[in-house]
Amino acid sequence: SVKQSTQSLVEKDKEHVWHHMAQYKPGSSPMIASEAKGSWITDHDGNRYLDGMSGLWCVNVGYGREELAQAAFEQMKQMAYVPMTQSHEPAIHLAEKINDLLEEDYMIFYSNSGSDANEVAFKIARQYHHQNGDPSRHKIISRYRAYHGNSFGALSATGQSLRKYKYEPLSSGFIHVSPPDNYRKPSGQSIEEYNIQCAKEIEDKIIWEQKETIAGIIMEPLITGGGVFIPHPVYMKKVEEICKRHGVLLIIDEVICGFGRTGKMFGHMHFDIKPDIITMAKGLTSAYLPLSVTAVRKDIYEKFTQDGENNHFRHVNTFGGNPAACAVALKNIEILENENLVSRSAILGDRLQEGLVELTNHPYVGDLRSLGFLIGIELVEDKNTKQPADAERVNRIIKGCKANGLIVGKNGDTVAGYNNILTLSPPLSCTDDDLGFIIAVIKKVFKENE
Ligand code: PMP
Repeated sequence: SVKQSTQSLVEKDKEHVWHHMAQYKPGSSPMIASEAKGSWITDHDGNRYLDGMSGLWCVNVGYGREELAQAAFEQMKQMAYVPMTQSHEPAIHLAEKINDLLEEDYMIFYSNSGSDANEVAFKIARQYHHQNGDPSRHKIISRYRAYHGNSFGALSATGQSLRKYKYEPLSSGFIHVSPPDNYRKPSGQSIEEYNIQCAKEIEDKIIWEQKETIAGIIMEPLITGGGVFIPHPVYMKKVEEICKRHGVLLIIDEVICGFGRTGKMFGHMHFDIKPDIITMAKGLTSAYLPLSVTAVRKDIYEKFTQDGENNHFRHVNTFGGNPAACAVALKNIEILENENLVSRSAILGDRLQEGLVELTNHPYVGDLRSLGFLIGIELVEDKNTKQPADAERVNRIIKGCKANGLIVGKNGDTVAGYNNILTLSPPLSCTDDDLGFIIAVIKKVFKENE
């Protein structure tokens, strides 16, 4: 067949495809991606781009892994599908493997996406309290700036006004607190004191809302997509303590942090905490196939095994835990382990941070922060007032990077006035040359925008 021109594909795309996030800006067109290998995406005209934000999609082992394609192919030939009302080997082996990685015993509930996994967590938290004799415990606490998914419950937990305000009213019973933002902490307080105060804000919320109404708290180990907000370790320890004190379940969203991004297999492992429920998604398969997991502490699960139909967890979905996705997840984890990509994540992150540290002298770079191979660069108009950089300034950097073959992400919330944080999270399989390329492009583009 004759290869269609980029022009004709773009026209058809404009006519038929409604894209996620922003529609095209006047005069611009989407990239028609054709191939991807390692850290690089090639467009329809053969231009190559290093995907510096693939980490937010969790393509952790990099693109074009034949082993993953093969795992899906073999499994689909043997048995493409059974619903999770039954079981099969890939689902069983994967659940066992996840427990090995978590170093704890959880029950593994499968679904398809991060949003799904969080919805499952909220339903389990509510039903658990119901069956534990506390039916009024229904509220979920989450944090401003965090993203937890696109469905009504997960969106209600999300703390970004931009994504929510035109879809209200959302689900009831979701309340928010501020996350630690160490860059903007009040002066005169140490980071540790400030983080203790942020945790205290959660306890105040629980008390003022009446603790008998609170089912759970959901948080990422660090806020990733919302702008890379990394707490002081004391914060997570305090949050765990507060949850225990008030009978509130601690739900940790590992959708992005899970499977190596932060330099440990799971982000919460930086903080020596034991979550009650853990959600994970795209990192399971490096986003090659849809799959997610809600891991639930065994003693919570026990409440769902008592006699009586009405004590079961009423939740089913067609694709969750499908055999091909589970087989890909097992292979993906094998690659992470065999290639030591989790420790490589920590090494690459340190080198990237080091390579970019001189950016902090740039007039518009307010803060540079990272954990593992996830870096946030916060742009401001003025370093004294810390006024967030305006959209134009941020977009100039993003466009400059793209023109030099590097895709970087932008995070925050345009409605709240904070859309000023660039994120870098290349695949964990990033080569030394790739890393050198990223550092060179970023430095060059910032220099051009002084
Ligand atoms: N939680 C977090 C922390 C996420 O970053 C995302 C997606 N970026 C989700 C949940 C939702 O995942 P999905 O897009 O698979 O529904």
